[in-house]
Amino acid sequence: MTTVAAYAAPAAKAPLERTTIERRAVRENDVLIDIKFAGICHSDIHQVREGWGEAIFPMVPGHEIAGVVTEVGPGVTRFAVGDRVGVGCMVDSCRTCENCRAGLEQYCTRGNTMTYNAVGKDGEPTYGGYAQTIVVDEDFVVRIPEGIGLDEAAPLLCAGITTYSPLKHWNAGPGKKVAVLGMGGLGHMAVKIAHALGAEVTVLSQSLRKKDDGLRLGADHYYATSDPKTFEELAGTFDLIVSTVSAPLDFGAYLALLRTDGALVNVGAPEEPVSLNLFSVIGGRKTLAGSSIGGIRETQEMLDFCAERGLGSEIEVISADRINEAYERVLAGDVRYRFVIDTSTI
Ligand SMILES: [Zn+2]
Ligand SMILES: [Zn+2]
Repeated sequence: MTTVAAYAAPAAKAPLERTTIERRAVRENDVLIDIKFAGICHSDIHQVREGWGEAIFPMVPGHEIAGVVTEVGPGVTRFAVGDRVGVGCMVDSCRTCENCRAGLEQYCTRGNTMTYNAVGKDGEPTYGGYAQTIVVDEDFVVRIPEGIGLDEAAPLLCAGITTYSPLKHWNAGPGKKVAVLGMGGLGHMAVKIAHALGAEVTVLSQSLRKKDDGLRLGADHYYATSDPKTFEELAGTFDLIVSTVSAPLDFGAYLALLRTDGALVNVGAPEEPVSLNLFSVIGGRKTLAGSSIGGIRETQEMLDFCAERGLGSEIEVISADRINEAYERVLAGDVRYRFVIDTSTI
């Protein structure tokens, strides 16, 4: 075991503070990573505040981890000391179920092990990326290609894959009209990736405040959802809507923006159940769906794609003593578009 510095929430809703945690000794198939940057994801805040149910404390959040390998176990074959690597939302899964065998570890039928706020197969709690190091089985480590900075790559490990996976699954590409609902951490990556995939991209945001950014990042059109005319004008338009919004939505109103056979896919998760009149999906054979991050293989594919196209995240790098302030700013929508912690300041 090694003692390392970290930022943790000691209890639900408590501010994060500097502390130390134990990292396990490197096992046969483990990689020890010197963390350089860790993104702040909205779901870190949900979990610290127990918005998604009871959580494990102390909690070291962080599942957008970018760093450099400093030690490998004797059985490691894919990584060497000095490699630039990333870790996302999972650090283990059963590896034998149908989904794990298909590279869909995020849907492991026995439940995967989340990077933090979970208990590993060894019975120990997992701690995330707001820390100096992390030890992870090599099967859950991905390579960050040269040509993309570790700081702008960190958010790809959650925000990038969470949007890339549904865009690919629902065939965003040339000839497809894709709407991105919400222009935040997830939304701005969805715009970049959908545009790079060749789709015609529309941002649906509460206001036109971020319109210039949206168009610069690759959107073709930008509409305010606070304007009722938007819903008249865009009725029956989209093949795919990716909703990154975690606040309650009028799903009926958004389903009406889909063409026949269109899909509204949720990657944001409101804390409360939603209600829906099912005629919204019956008319037009529409799909209301969800999607969770992506498998390890697809995460590597996404990183390679983003590096090739120069698609880093738009970031604001902060020192660790500003994490609590950053949380408040995320909740206020005051970040363009992802906070990334410089973990050398922990
Ligand atoms: Zn996340
Ligand atoms: Zn499994």
